[in-house]
Amino acid sequence: MAKLNKKSVDDIDVKGKKVLVRCDFNVPMKEGKITDDNRITAALPTIQKLIDSGAKVILCSHMGKPKGEVKPELTLAPVAKRLSELLGKEVKFAADNEVVGENAKKAAAEMKDGDVVLLENTRFRKEEELKCKTPEETEAFNAFCKDLAALTDGFFVMDAFGTAHRRHATTAGVADFVKNSAVGYLMQKEIQFLGNAVEAPERPFVAILGGAKVADKLNVISNLLEKCDTLIIGGGMAYTFVKAQGFEIGTSLCDDEKLDYCKEMLEKAKKLGKKLLLPVDAVTTASFPDPIDAPIETEVYDIDKMPADRMGMDIGPRTRELFAAEVKSARTVVWNGPMGVFENPLLAKGTYAVAEALAETDAVTVIGGGDSAAAIKKLGFADKMTHISTGGGASLEYLEGKKMPGVEAIQEK
Ligand code: AMP
Repeated sequence: MAKLNKKSVDDIDVKGKKVLVRCDFNVPMKEGKITDDNRITAALPTIQKLIDSGAKVILCSHMGKPKGEVKPELTLAPVAKRLSELLGKEVKFAADNEVVGENAKKAAAEMKDGDVVLLENTRFRKEEELKCKTPEETEAFNAFCKDLAALTDGFFVMDAFGTAHRRHATTAGVADFVKNSAVGYLMQKEIQFLGNAVEAPERPFVAILGGAKVADKLNVISNLLEKCDTLIIGGGMAYTFVKAQGFEIGTSLCDDEKLDYCKEMLEKAKKLGKKLLLPVDAVTTASFPDPIDAPIETEVYDIDKMPADRMGMDIGPRTRELFAAEVKSARTVVWNGPMGVFENPLLAKGTYAVAEALAETDAVTVIGGGDSAAAIKKLGFADKMTHISTGGGASLEYLEGKKMPGVEAIQEK
C-alpha cells in the first residue's frame, strides 16, 4: 500500500474536544431534495469515529457555486436532515449566513460530547475562495480561517477529497490556525487507492482516458504515460491524436492547437516503449444529436476511412474488443472519462464495453469519478470495482501527479 505520511483521525485525541471537519456535501439537489446522497454516506465513517471518540463534531462543506453570496437554494439545511437520518442522531444545523456568525458560535458553545453541528454553506462567504493575491485578500482569508479555528478546541480534520485540489479556507487555510490537523478516512482511502494504483501498481498497468478535450488532460496524459504500461485513449480527445497521425477525422472534436502536443506524446510513448492505444474504428453521426439523447442514425467507419462529413461519436466495435482485451491482460486499471457521447444510448456502447471489461477482470480497478463513475453505477457494476473515487476533478489532478493543497496542509505523522 502507498503510505500516507499524514496524521489521520486515528492519531488525534479528540475526547471532549470541538473538532472542525471539512466534508464534501456538494450533493445534487432537485427542488430542495437530495437526489444522490453518495457523498454524505462516504463521509459517515469519519463522523462516526469522531462521535464514538467523544468529540464535539462541527461539520462544514460547500454546495454549488454561490460565489460569496447567500443563495437560499444552496443552503445545507437538507444535508443536516439527511445526515440525522443516516447517523440516527440529531445533527443540529447552525443556520447562519455568515457561516461562523453568532448562531454558529452559539451552536458550538452549547455542544456536548458526541454532538454534531453542521455549519452553513462555506461558499456563502467570499473569503472561502480568495486567492490571496493581495495583502488585503490574504488578511480577509486568514481572518475567516481564524474564526473557523476559534469555533474549535484546536482540531481540524480534512475529509473532503472532492475539493482537496483547491486551496480554500476550509480545505487547507484553517489548518494553519489549529494545533492539530488530520485527514479523515475518506481522504485516506482515496489517496491510498489512487496513489497505489499510480505509484506502485501491480503490472501490467493499463490507464484509460476519455472525455471531450485533450486540453483538459494534458498533464494527465504525460504523467500516466510515464507510470503505466499501456495508455488507452478514447472519447472526443482521441480524434486529435488520430489527426496528429495524419488521418482524416471529418467533423469530429479536435483541439487543433494541441496537434503538436499529441505528436509529442506519440513520440514519448515510442521512446519509453509504452503502448498507446487509439481507436481503430468509430461510430459516426452526421451531426451532434440535439437534444443530446435524441435518436440519431449512425455509421461505423475504420479510423483510416473516415469521410470528411462525419463526426466520430463513440469507439467502434473493433475498438471495443481491442480495449476490452487490453483490460483483460492488466493487473491494474485506472479509468477516467467516457469513450463517447454516452449520454445518448446509441453512442454509449464504447463506454459500457469498457465498464463491462472492468467489471469482469479481477485486476485492481480504480475509477476516477465523474462520468466514468456514473456509467459504472448505472450499469450496476459499482461493487465490482476496487475503488470509485468521489472526486472527478480531484482524482484527475492526482493522476497528474500534482500535490493537493488539502493534503499538504495537514500535519505529518
Ligand atoms: P470530460 O468532461 O472531458 O470528461 O468529457 C465528458 C464529455 O465528453 C461527455 O459529456 C461526452 O458526451 C463527451 N464526449 C465523449 N466523446 C465524445 C466525442 N467523440 N465527441 C464529442 N463529445 C464527446
